Amino acid sequence: MASCKQCPSQDVTFEEDIVNINPPPALQNLAIQSLLRDEALAISALRNLPQSLFPAIFEAALIDGHIGILKAMIPVWPFPYLSLGRLIRNCNLETLKAMLEGVDILLAQNDRSSRCKLRVLSLRNEYHTLWRIWGGSYEGKGLPEFMTQQQPVENCPDCGVNKELKVTTDLNLLDGGLDESATYLLQWAQQKKDSIHLCCTMLRIHSLPKDIFRDILKIVNTGCIQELHLKELYTEELVFLIPYLREINNLLTFMLSSIRETYRMDNSTRLDEENISRFISHLPKFHCLQNLYVNDITLLGNNLKDFLGCLGKPLETLCLTSCDLSQSDLDYLPCCQNTSALKRLNLTATSLRGLVFRPLGVLLESIRDTLQSLELELCFMEDSQISAILPALSQCSHLTKVNFYDNELSLTILRQLLYHTANLSQLTYEVYPAPLECYNDMNIILTHKLENFCPELLDIIRANRQPNRVTFATSKCLICCGSYVYDLETQRCLYQKELLED
Ligand SMILES: [Zn+2]
Ligand SMILES: [Zn+2]
Repeated sequence: MASCKQCPSQDVTFEEDIVNINPPPALQNLAIQSLLRDEALAISALRNLPQSLFPAIFEAALIDGHIGILKAMIPVWPFPYLSLGRLIRNCNLETLKAMLEGVDILLAQNDRSSRCKLRVLSLRNEYHTLWRIWGGSYEGKGLPEFMTQQQPVENCPDCGVNKELKVTTDLNLLDGGLDESATYLLQWAQQKKDSIHLCCTMLRIHSLPKDIFRDILKIVNTGCIQELHLKELYTEELVFLIPYLREINNLLTFMLSSIRETYRMDNSTRLDEENISRFISHLPKFHCLQNLYVNDITLLGNNLKDFLGCLGKPLETLCLTSCDLSQSDLDYLPCCQNTSALKRLNLTATSLRGLVFRPLGVLLESIRDTLQSLELELCFMEDSQISAILPALSQCSHLTKVNFYDNELSLTILRQLLYHTANLSQLTYEVYPAPLECYNDMNIILTHKLENFCPELLDIIRANRQPNRVTFATSKCLICCGSYVYDLETQRCLYQKELLED
């Protein structure tokens, strides 16, 4: 841990994550706003409006809470797919009720309106481009593919459910249970189960009220769940979940984070260890799992081999962050069949201090043709350790991202590292620690040294390729939590409070 000379205390404000949407043309916006002011008129006009206006009107109605219009738009929605995407943030119980009442009307129509094409209503916050329809960015570019009538709508091929209409959602089980919207949605789906398929693709369990959990699984088809997050659960709750995990057989992403330990007067630490071992040894085979995230679990130590035994096929992502890895865990990594095709490997904040790195080198060698992202931030690596992986690292020619931040490397070994990454022509994002020579005996950051070293270090890369985004950064100052960053853009050593947003 370092501290800096000045500890600047300036407030660094960050711009909000502003999404850059092309707003609908001003005139169209005005027309929509004036239409929405007269709800009855808007509803009566819906049938005659051009299809292309529907997304923009729906968005405006959702944001301003015109529930009557939302309800009326669903039964005449002219596209097979309606995805709220990021607009889900504007959704509350009232707007949800209005949309579901719209679905009720749609389902009750014997003579389906020739206009309504709706097959899927997605209430997920999906981070793909579908949401752009709301911004009007389709204007003049034609409608996105999925909005055309020819687009086939998959009705949950994985879980084999085929109902009239699919409603997709994520569910979050938190301390107080489900939120009121999710509770309402589940009750509604239960009543409409003959015609609606409620498809829950992502289930986050951050607390486990067991009754509510059982109720959810009475309504949600476990075969639909592709992403499962278990966070801050007690070890006995993990054991409780074992039989249910067996049913979640289409899981693609599994995230296990921050297991809570029980502190009692008796030998409960031992009980936790027993529970963890029991949980790990009873994990079912996840036949399609692609991404495994394990975070902040110190009880994992020495159990990694058994844990990875749940994999049914080669993983794409392995993240073991803030964990305890033993030498035998590290030794096992390259021996596991299902780590042989990794695209992303992340060991951030997992201490590898004092471990023999040869197995990590063997692993890198075996994934040299697949690996795209390697994060070894804050692993307490030292010179001799990183030397052991350099030959393998330089063969990972598909790497686009590497992060070695916050490791204790000397200038000499940092140069060596750069000679090796300089060969990796696909790299677009690189983070390196400031060398040990940038701190004095008292661990005070010497910014002028960083400023002096960096041009030379950058030249090592430039000798082989044009770098894209390269950053050198000091450890965080103990007092102000800021660090000094030298990057390609500024080519200066600057103080930063928040480091390395990628
Ligand atoms: Zn400071
Ligand atoms: Zn489904």
